[in-house]
Amino acid sequence: MAAVVSVITQDYQTSLHGDEPSPINLDAVPHHDLVVIGTGSGNTFVDERYAGLDVAFVEHGVFGGTCLNVGCIPTKMYVYAADVAEAVRRAATYGIDASLDKVRWADIRDRVFGRIDPIAEGGKEYRVERSPNVTVYFGHAAFTGPRALRVERTDGSGADELTADQVVVAAGGRPMIPAAIAESGVPYETSDTIMRLSELPRRLAIVGGGFIAAEFAHVFSALGTQVTVIARGSRMLRSHDETISAAYTDLIAGRLDLRTSTQVTGVSGTAGDLRVTLDDGETIEVDTLLVAAGRVPNGDRMNLGAAGIGTHSDGRIEVDQYQRTSAEGVWALGDVSSPWALKHVANHEAKIVGHNVLHPDDLRETNHRYIPSAVFTDPQVASVGKTEEQVRMLGLDYTVKVQRFGDVAFGWAMEDTTGLCKILAEKGTGRLLGAHIMGPQASTLIQPLIQAMSFGLHAREMATGQYWIHPALPEVVENALLGLDL
Ligand SMILES: Cc1cc2nc3c(=O)[nH]c(=O)nc-3n(C[C@H](O)[C@H](O)[C@H](O)COP(=O)(O)OP(=O)(O)OC[C@H]3O[C@@H](n4cnc5c(N)ncnc54)[C@H](O)[C@@H]3O)c2cc1C
Repeated sequence: MAAVVSVITQDYQTSLHGDEPSPINLDAVPHHDLVVIGTGSGNTFVDERYAGLDVAFVEHGVFGGTCLNVGCIPTKMYVYAADVAEAVRRAATYGIDASLDKVRWADIRDRVFGRIDPIAEGGKEYRVERSPNVTVYFGHAAFTGPRALRVERTDGSGADELTADQVVVAAGGRPMIPAAIAESGVPYETSDTIMRLSELPRRLAIVGGGFIAAEFAHVFSALGTQVTVIARGSRMLRSHDETISAAYTDLIAGRLDLRTSTQVTGVSGTAGDLRVTLDDGETIEVDTLLVAAGRVPNGDRMNLGAAGIGTHSDGRIEVDQYQRTSAEGVWALGDVSSPWALKHVANHEAKIVGHNVLHPDDLRETNHRYIPSAVFTDPQVASVGKTEEQVRMLGLDYTVKVQRFGDVAFGWAMEDTTGLCKILAEKGTGRLLGAHIMGPQASTLIQPLIQAMSFGLHAREMATGQYWIHPALPEVVENALLGLDL
C-alpha cells in the first residue's frame, strides 16, 4: 500500500508543480481505514459497527448535505406553510369565510432554519467532538491517485494529503446553471440560496420544469409572489407519466404565468431589478431569478481519473450492484452516482455500502426495482413503477385505469375536481406495472401501491383481499384497481 501511495503522490506533485516533483514525506500523510467524501447520506452509515476503524469524513460545505440543509426537508417545511396559505384562500369553498391577512416571510424562514440549523450543527459536533475514531476534514477533496486524496481546506489555510484503505464517494450534486445565465454576471438564486432570502420577492422568475421548479412555484405563488415559470420542455414534470404531466401542466398554467417550450437567452439588470430575455424575444421584469434547471453530479470536480474511477457520459460515477466503482476499494452512493437523485435512494445505497465496506466476502446488492418519487406541489404528484409510455415501448400487454378523486366520497368532501389515480397492470397476470397519482396527499396514497409492487401483490388480490376504510381517500386507489380490465 505504501508503495502505491508513494508513486501516486509523486505523480500528483509533478502535475501540480511542472517537471520538478517535490518529494513527500509519507510518514506525514495520515492514513485512514475509511474516508467518506460528503456528509449527507455518507454520514448515515458510519455507526457502532465502525467503532474499531479509523474513519475520516471530508466535507466542503454545510455538514449534513443537501436533504437536510437545502433540499427535501426545508422545502417541505416551506411547502407546508404554502399549503396552509392555500387552505385559507380556498376556505370559502366549504362555507368558511377567512382571509389571508399577511405572510410573515421572515418567520416562515426562521421556523424552518431554526429547526434545521441546530440539527446540522449537532451532527457536526457529534462527529468532531464525540466520535473518538472519527476525523473530519473541512475542505474540498480531490483524488491524487488510487485511494489517495488532497483536501483543500475551506478556511484557506492550506491542504491535507491523506490515504485510505477504502473510500466512499458520497459527494452528491449541485444545481446546473444554463450558460446564458451563468455568463450574464447577473445575480441569481438556486435551491441552495432562495430559502434564505431576507424578503419575499414580489416578482420571481423560475427557470426549470422539473420537481424543484414545481415545488418552489407552489411555495412562492401561495405566499403571494407573482411567479413566472420558464420551462424548456413542452410540459412540466416531463419525466412523469404523460397523463399526470399534461394534467399538472394545464393546472398550473391556469394559476401562474407558465412559459413552456421556452428558453432564457439572456439576463440583465441588478438584484431586485432583473430583465430576463426569452427565446421568443419577450423580456420579463422580475425582482429575483431562481435557476432550477436540473442538477449535475459533483464527480467532475474530484479528479476521478487519477483514481481510476469510471463515469457515465452524464458525469455520474459508474457503480455495480454492490455500489463498487471501477477502482478497487472505492465505493459511491447517492446523487454522485445514482440515476435517481432521491434521498430515499441515497439512504438505501448508504445502507448497502455500510454493510459491504465491512463484509467484502458477503456483499449485498442494492434493490432498485420499484423506486417511488413524490413532488410536493399543489396538488401533490407521486409515482412508482413504469409510465404508460415506458410500458408501451416495452410492448407489454397492459391495461390502465384512471380514477378521479372526485369519484370517491372523500373527494366530494374536498370538492376535488382535478385529482387522479392512474394504475397500469399487465393483462392476464394482474401484475402491477406502475401507479401515478396527482391530488391531495398523493405522496401518502401511493405507499400501498409501492408495497404491493415490492412484495409482488397483484392488482385483484390487492383490491379485494383487504378492507379499505370508508370513506377514506384510499378508496380512489381501491376503485382504480377494481376498474382495471385484467
Ligand atoms: C430543493 C431540493 C429538494 C429536494 N427534495 C427531495 C424530496 O422531497 N425527496 C427526495 O427524496 N429527494 C429530494 N431531493 C434530493 C435529495 O436531496 C438528494 O437526492 C440527496 O440529498 C442526495 O444525498 P447525497 O448523500 O447523495 O448527497 P448530498 O446530501 O448532496 O451530500 C453530498 C455532500 O458532499 C459534499 N461534497 C461534495 N463534493 C465534495 C468534495 N469534493 N469534497 C468534500 N465534500 C464534498 C457536499 O457539500 C455535500 O454536503 C431534493 C433536492 C433538492 C435540491
